[in-house]
Amino acid sequence: YDPNTHTISYLQTRTYLPVKSLPPKEKKRILVTGGAGFVGSHLVDRLMLMGHEVIVIDNFFTGRKNNVGHWIGHPNFELIRHDVVDPFLIEVDQIYHLACPASPPHYQYNPIKTVKTSVMGTINMLGLAKRVKARFLLTSTSEVYGDPEEHPQAETYWGNVNPIGPRACYDEGKRVAETLTYAYMNQDCVDVRVARIFNTFGPRMNANDGRVVSNFIMQALKGEDLTIYGDGYQTRSFQYVHDLVDGLILLMNTDYKEPINLGNPDEYTIREFAELIINEVNTSSKITTLPAPKDDPKKRRPDITRAEQILGWKPRWPVKQGIEETVKYFQRQLEAGLI
Ligand code: NAD
Ligand code: UDP
Repeated sequence: YDPNTHTISYLQTRTYLPVKSLPPKEKKRILVTGGAGFVGSHLVDRLMLMGHEVIVIDNFFTGRKNNVGHWIGHPNFELIRHDVVDPFLIEVDQIYHLACPASPPHYQYNPIKTVKTSVMGTINMLGLAKRVKARFLLTSTSEVYGDPEEHPQAETYWGNVNPIGPRACYDEGKRVAETLTYAYMNQDCVDVRVARIFNTFGPRMNANDGRVVSNFIMQALKGEDLTIYGDGYQTRSFQYVHDLVDGLILLMNTDYKEPINLGNPDEYTIREFAELIINEVNTSSKITTLPAPKDDPKKRRPDITRAEQILGWKPRWPVKQGIEETVKYFQRQLEAGLI
């Protein structure tokens, strides 16, 4: 910087991961809401590497600039601080609508805001899709099945949700988001896709977001006891984030409009899962039990027949391998003093 002429000269240029060069006809403008979050940032990575133009809007409630920091300044990338509860106008070809806190402590922190995010946020993004004729993909959730009475859960199951319980702000919010999505499809011909995502984990999960994977790994790395809520015989099925991203992109680019489950059917009791983490981290941590949260679903496993038939998709990452990668990520973050 020259203070006499107020001239800034810089030689420094940033280097980015190499992105594919697409012919203009194949290059899409893609909006990712919640793109600075855990799943969103991995989706952004993949869309960028494929050579598309990606615009992220995020209010940074649970997401972080750092998750997409490696793309900031790239000509194909734009990061905008915006809350989806407010309307947003932009010309795009596709919208991946992820914006919504996903972990129980975060979505229960301000339940009214969670409902607003799901309902008003989804109306705004569907309105945008209608206006600019973009294809719209909603990231819904296995929580629409509530505490399921059918096992495993197929897309045809209508669910068992307590509409006034502590999880309702998220579960019912997503159920209305699905209702809105199909209302815009039927009434206004919006081109829609709905993914029902089951428990997903991987690097860039928020270390203190309270979900079981991050809690157990962090506790194990710090040599603390792993906290099992309830008796630990409730089950979950865990999918590694890269499998989910494959599924989301395949779904966006097929013609199928009904909801599709995306999850790994590999089912664990929470007790078995705690043992797995203790073995992976090789820690002397023990297990301790805490009271079960209200309305905690007792079992969950996706029926992925539809995803296999329609998308030719099934998970490729064994849970153990994904856990290894995630443990390494949290270890590096701890060593760097970032968490
Ligand atoms: P996350 O909390 O890491 O990401 C959500 C992102 O949305 C964050 O970046 C957050 O800042 C942003 N956001 C929240 N409210 C917003 C608002 N009002 N306006 C703009 N941005 C907002 O969660 P995630 O695990 O990456 O989940 C992403 C999506 O996938 C969510 O819609 C979630 O419901 C869905 N999903 C995730 C899982 C999972 O296991 N991770 C399972 C089922 C469904
Ligand atoms: N859980 C637990 N200990 C923790 C965090 C969660 O035993 O430290 C349990 C929780 O009660 C639930 C399961 O693990 O039965 C998965 O919880 P998570 O919050 O990850 O996801 P969700 O309940 O939304 O599936």
